[in-house]
Amino acid sequence: MSKQPSPATEPWEPGIIARYLTVAGATVDVRGGGDHASMTCLGCSLHYSAFGEQRTRELAQGHAEKCRALPRPAVTP
Ligand SMILES: [Zn+2]
Repeated sequence: MSKQPSPATEPWEPGIIARYLTVAGATVDVRGGGDHASMTCLGCSLHYSAFGEQRTRELAQGHAEKCRALPRPAVTP
């Protein structure tokens, strides 16, 4: 039996520049950089891609502090 993977220790996908842990244990990933960054919440699927890197990081952090959507469990058929 393998342990449940923790969002804090999972390897990051290529392209992710920052990752924020939400209060429910999901993650908000920030990709890109410069004027073209994007963020995706893996709990509630919120996605922003219209802002620069600094603003996107702020949005991601702010969202991570409020989002209570649980991460989708890994399904093994
Ligand atoms: Zn969310």
